[in-house]
This record gives sequence, structure tokens and C-alpha cells, in this order.
Amino acid sequence: MIEHLLSVFLGEKSYLSDDYIAKIAQNDVCSFINKNNEVTHGFLIANIEPKECIREYLPLDLESDDVIDTKRSDLSRKLIQVPYFDASEQLKAEFHLVSSKKVNTVLTYDCMKVVEDTRQMLHHFNVFNLLNTSFDKYHLMSYNPKSKCFSVNPKILYTHLTRTLVLSNINPEDALLVVVAHEIGHMLDDELNNKADEFVDTVNNIQLLSRKHEGSELSKRELNILRKELQKYQLMNLKFEANAWIIGLKFIPSNLKRYYKEQTEKMLYQNRIDMEMRMERIHLSLTNNF
Ligand SMILES: [Zn+2]
Repeated sequence: MIEHLLSVFLGEKSYLSDDYIAKIAQNDVCSFINKNNEVTHGFLIANIEPKECIREYLPLDLESDDVIDTKRSDLSRKLIQVPYFDASEQLKAEFHLVSSKKVNTVLTYDCMKVVEDTRQMLHHFNVFNLLNTSFDKYHLMSYNPKSKCFSVNPKILYTHLTRTLVLSNINPEDALLVVVAHEIGHMLDDELNNKADEFVDTVNNIQLLSRKHEGSELSKRELNILRKELQKYQLMNLKFEANAWIIGLKFIPSNLKRYYKEQTEKMLYQNRIDMEMRMERIHLSLTNNF
């Protein structure tokens, strides 16, 4: 069942044998048959990843440390030669399958497919606004109330979907539905629409100043402006985020309501933490540099 949904959602399905060469990339999700003959799933990881990173991606029910070990002698792992997905020529890279006796499905990351599935999901809710591809590293998906356009960062969205699958066992279609419902929630939020100009201008100002701040080029005056803009943003954003989650709930089928509520709490908390960290950084710059 899971395999079926995965292949419908993420596209190409390949069967591997020892000499099979598949198009797979780091962080792809694969489903495989574990030692107890059950179908389970995990990430594909490159052998250069440190242990800590790997643990983060492992399915929660996976047993113990032996499968996390990336030493070449580890028997629970299988080594395959694959052409690296993004390479212009067929560069060989080694990928390890975590705890797999036998892989039966490998799924490939396809940027256009992720964007297309997001578009289909919007259409499913009769939303036909423009959907842009973005490379904004902070948002998997966003809505601009001024231009009325949605943006999706396929790479971050894909990572979110695969992580959700592995860590929470939520299939990608359902996880995508939750993301899209939340964004439509933004679109339908009157409070946000009434403050669209003010909100988007604030976001733009923050982005501009933050970029300069990363290069530590801000004067004390600019840092104070950034702090004020962030405070203004925080007041609006926390409200708009809460609104979007409440409005988006009506698009969620009853079997997903629990997961949706967990996401709501998690994301609202995350928004707060992100904001506090950004304020802290400004505070540090102000106290250290001036
Ligand atoms: Zn949001």
C-alpha cells in the first residue's frame, strides 16, 4: 500500500538487484523488506555522512546501533554503485541502504514532479493561482498576499515529505495535503489580506537587512531598524500563522486531523523559536559590535 502511494506520488520505481544500476540520490526514500520480512522504508545515504545525521533520518522503529554503523564491514547494509542523480556525466557514487536485506523499491527525486503534484493538489481545492518555483531556503511553500501567488521550494518540500514519511509514517500525499491546506488558509485569511501591503513590505525589508546582517555589514542604526521590523513582523506573523492553521483545517479529512493538529502545534512553536533566535542574534551583534 505504502509502496503504491509512494510510486504514484514520487514517480519512477526501479527494482534493484546486485548488478542493477538505478537513478537514486542521497536522501531518497526507499522501501525495503526488513529482517522480519516486513516492508519498511528508509533513506538512502551516502557513506560520507556522519553518524549523527544518519540517526536523524532513520525510521523510529528501526532496531539499534548496528544498522546505523556505516563501516564497510557492516553486513546489514548493502553497497550499490549508482550514477549520481544530478551529474552531467555518469559519475559513480556509492550509496548505502540502511538496514536492508533486499531493496524492492527505489524512488527518485524529481523536482518538476514535486511542483506538479503541488499544483494538482491546489487544483483539487479549486485554487488556480500562479505557483512559482522558489529557492527560498526558509520555506517549503509560501503564499504572497500581495501578488496572490504561491511559491514552492521543491527540494525542501521533498525533504519534508520524505522525513514525514520516515519519522511519522504519514504518506507523502497526505503530508502534502496538510502543507497545501495551510497555505490556502493564508490565501483565505481576510486579516492577512487586509494587511497584505504592510506585511509583504515588512518581509522584504527584513530579507534585505538580514542578508546584509549575514555579511555583518549592518550599522547600529540598521540593526535597530531590523529589530523593529522583526518585532512588527512577529506580531503579524504569529497571528497570521495561527489563522492559516485554523482556516486550513476545513480541508483536512478526519483521518488526518490528529496529524494536522500536531503539525499546527509544532509549527507555531517553531515560528516562535525561529523568531527568538533571530532577535537574539541582533541583540548579540548590538552588544558585541557597538
Ligand atoms: Zn504559514
